[in-house]
Amino acid sequence: MDWIARRLEVIEPSPTLAISAKAAELKKKGEDIVSFGAGEPDFETPTHIREAAKNAIDKGMTRYTAVSGTVELKDAILTKFKRDNGLEYTRNQVIVGTGGKQVIYNFFLATLNRGDEVIIPAPYWVSYADIVRLADGVPVLVSASKENEFRISPADLEKAISPKTKVLILNSPSNPTGSAYSRKELEALGEVVLKHKLLVMSDDIYERIVFDGFEFCNLAMISPELKELTFIVNGVSKAYSMTGWRIGYGVGPVEIVKNMDTIQSQSTSNPSSISQAAAEAALKGDQGCVLEMARAFQKRRDLIVRLLREIPGVEVNLPQGAFYVFPYLTGVYETQGFKKLSASSEEKSKSKLFCAHLLDKYKVAAVPGIAFGDDEALRLSYAMSENDIQKGVSRIAEMVRDFSR
Ligand code: GLU
Repeated sequence: MDWIARRLEVIEPSPTLAISAKAAELKKKGEDIVSFGAGEPDFETPTHIREAAKNAIDKGMTRYTAVSGTVELKDAILTKFKRDNGLEYTRNQVIVGTGGKQVIYNFFLATLNRGDEVIIPAPYWVSYADIVRLADGVPVLVSASKENEFRISPADLEKAISPKTKVLILNSPSNPTGSAYSRKELEALGEVVLKHKLLVMSDDIYERIVFDGFEFCNLAMISPELKELTFIVNGVSKAYSMTGWRIGYGVGPVEIVKNMDTIQSQSTSNPSSISQAAAEAALKGDQGCVLEMARAFQKRRDLIVRLLREIPGVEVNLPQGAFYVFPYLTGVYETQGFKKLSASSEEKSKSKLFCAHLLDKYKVAAVPGIAFGDDEALRLSYAMSENDIQKGVSRIAEMVRDFSR
């Protein structure tokens, strides 16, 4: 039976979520798995946020809200942009969705026509390219090398632009590399954006998780002209450890927001009313919890980078934000043991083979670099206790040692 639509031929299930599901399944069976899989903070959602949700239930806030979010949450979002980014928006420029992912999805459904090109700096988050494809667009990948700390240059961007280019995606700090663009680098990219009047989707979901005093900036903060070309996506999942609450939001041009609202009204309607009340408390409340979590992530980053750098054949950059590292395995792929494994397997992707072996034999879940556009690497999410980081990395080291024997 030919039941399934053609559009499914160009996408695959989210690899990050698939690996986490697999790790969870093995854990449930009693296996001692260390999961560096999906990026998900391990902290409890702060108490004042949970209390706000309970109050919302008790006060009967259990009905439909406006499709694009409650006025109260929108106002909290407007306050956040003013407070954190010095940016002013109006209510009709805000849309709240069921997680940042839905906001990104609706943004592309609202803006792309068949064949429109979207420039995606690689390595990139697993879902960008597939969301673009689902929306009939064409992902155009631009390699950001590890030598350039995974940041594209204005010349790289210029080269990738064609008459069909419509959108540029920027994600800083980045998933999967943790690299971030400074204001100066954004100014330079901004000139190219202005020259070609590109629309920019700035995914700022890791804005609050930055290290060593890094000052976050996005394109909209550079100039009013760039602000007009930029749609910002953010959410409460990462900053406030609220992944399960599913609240993301976007701000940008009124016309785009209005059309995203139409799409959302014909698909999911409003995001959960209770989660919206919780997100409002998160954005309006004391921001100390955010800083505390970011500090913990910085300590873990220091630990995981130090441990990974001790493994022969592994190379890793120092992330400036988020909670991922993207170690390169080029040296490991050259070991006798890995070559032997590769020769005996039908798997063509080296990073997939590495990760499958790592999970199967050493009980560590990680996401293959190929899912992010680079087969030489793998992504580790270190949103876990320092003990687990130590345990997981020592198992990776053991596997590499076994390959070198
Ligand atoms: N964004 C997180 C990750 O990359 C969560 C899972 C997902 O939606 O991809 O792991």
